[in-house]
Amino acid sequence: MTTSDFRVTLLGTGVPIPSPDRFGPCTLVEAGDQKFLIDAGRGATIRLYQLKLPIGRIDVQFLTHYHSDHTSGVPDVWLTGWLESHFGTRKTPYRVVGPTGARELIENLERAYALDIKIRVADEKLPLSGIATDVTEFDRDGVVFEKNGVKVIAFEVDHGAVIKPCYGYRVEYGGRVAVFSSDTRYNQNVIKYGAGADLLVHEVASARPELMREAYIQRIIAHHTTPREAGSVFAQTRPKLAAYTHIVLLGSERIPPPTIDDIVAETRQTYGGPLVAGEDLMAFDIGATVSVERHPSRSPPKA
Ligand SMILES: [Zn+2]
Ligand SMILES: [Zn+2]
Repeated sequence: MTTSDFRVTLLGTGVPIPSPDRFGPCTLVEAGDQKFLIDAGRGATIRLYQLKLPIGRIDVQFLTHYHSDHTSGVPDVWLTGWLESHFGTRKTPYRVVGPTGARELIENLERAYALDIKIRVADEKLPLSGIATDVTEFDRDGVVFEKNGVKVIAFEVDHGAVIKPCYGYRVEYGGRVAVFSSDTRYNQNVIKYGAGADLLVHEVASARPELMREAYIQRIIAHHTTPREAGSVFAQTRPKLAAYTHIVLLGSERIPPPTIDDIVAETRQTYGGPLVAGEDLMAFDIGATVSVERHPSRSPPKA
């Protein structure tokens, strides 16, 4: 399979559930010679290691919002990426771009890990330049990064009344576009910034109807997009490929969660175009068309 110069790999398609199959939210975007992470949930470094991509090769860490499942891998990417071994090797500052709050997160991590940094500088003689941080915050829609033909545009989404700030990203490179919804309810801004997307990566959440009477289920679903609603977003934006990540499948002790087949079937009530349910390490090559590649470590799809 040929690899295009614009490639998206889902490193973590999960949610707060500590699942070995779906790691915490994290997406790798490779455009030309640059590599970006959008969020860094639990296990982000493990997935980079599986791709044989040194953590220190990441040019910019983008953040969408400050729910811990999206950031708990940040200290690991930052600190492990600094180590001298082949999987680390960062010599330049860890660059972070995120909505207001990024600086507070990173400055507090610097305080939390000050002793480790002091020890490794004294013991391993690691360069301080590789553990330094460079944070850029934003507080409105617009271009938040532009370099070597890559443009990244942040757009506000609606993850609930108090879960603010929360932003999605639109990445443009070489006349092609990949859009990432972040965590959001059905939101017009995703449709606006999703216009003309080759690849639209969207979150999704579903619970069986029997569970919808439970208050805690209602609260979770109210922060996310149902498959029917996501289908409506896809139908209005008409991407070359729509992909699900951050797949919230809610069950209880008595009632099993919906399956991937269930959410695809429900999406089909509002959208008939190209759709794939993401899985960890699934990659999308964005060329004239968008191709899907499963990682060899994943089991073959069920017949
Ligand atoms: Zn989330
Ligand atoms: Zn969230």
